[in-house]
Amino acid sequence: MLIDSHCHLDDSSFDSDRLQVIDSAKQQGVQIQIIPAIDVLSWERIKNICNQFKNLYAAVGLHPCYAHQPRDISALENWLLTHKSVAIGECGLDYFIPDADRAQQQWFFSRQLAIAQTFDLPVILHARRSVDDVINNINKFKNLRGVVHSFVGSEQQAKRLIDRGFLLGFGGTLTYPRANRLRKLIQTLPLESILLETDAPDQPLFGKQGQRNEPAFLVHILNTIAQLRQTDPETLSQRFSQNTIQLFKL
Ligand code: ZN
Repeated sequence: MLIDSHCHLDDSSFDSDRLQVIDSAKQQGVQIQIIPAIDVLSWERIKNICNQFKNLYAAVGLHPCYAHQPRDISALENWLLTHKSVAIGECGLDYFIPDADRAQQQWFFSRQLAIAQTFDLPVILHARRSVDDVINNINKFKNLRGVVHSFVGSEQQAKRLIDRGFLLGFGGTLTYPRANRLRKLIQTLPLESILLETDAPDQPLFGKQGQRNEPAFLVHILNTIAQLRQTDPETLSQRFSQNTIQLFKL
């Protein structure tokens, strides 16, 4: 059994064949998917999809690359009072986008971390070119847990996050032969700190550039890790699924 811990199944690119996408994922053993939100509008969309299909779990949050209003923070708190959510996310900092308003990103990020702590929920973190600042932010809170999704940081950053009890999500980037540093890192990390994800429809795998990414392809990511660590994929998939179930209390 495999779990896609980060899949944007509510994306409009899945509107025409969502059922098929879920079915073909199942055929590959990908039984469960976690769907992180990007903005307020996506919460309702994700809720509807999770009601419609089995084994899909919603996360709610405000992604740093999208525009938000300060009132969205109180909307988030209100939403959590009446809706089921396995995590706050995705939230974080993105210094890659041109003209990033760092002060504004920081404002929304720290408020969401506070909400996660209040509601005792894990966080799904987006940290592009911003891993150190993300770590500094989570260190301001005592009881946070969560995952840095699509981790591409250094060994030292990985260690700091793992020491803090955080997990690291790995996806399609690992399948690229040129991703040397990351492929080396995945060989040394403790298995209990790894989650698998596709980030579909984004982050296409090696050999599938330019195509829509799908949760079914998670198995290639698993096989890449198995190859790099010279371990059998079955053992790894059990471990990674258990990590995901534990973190999100599925
Ligand atoms: Zn994402």
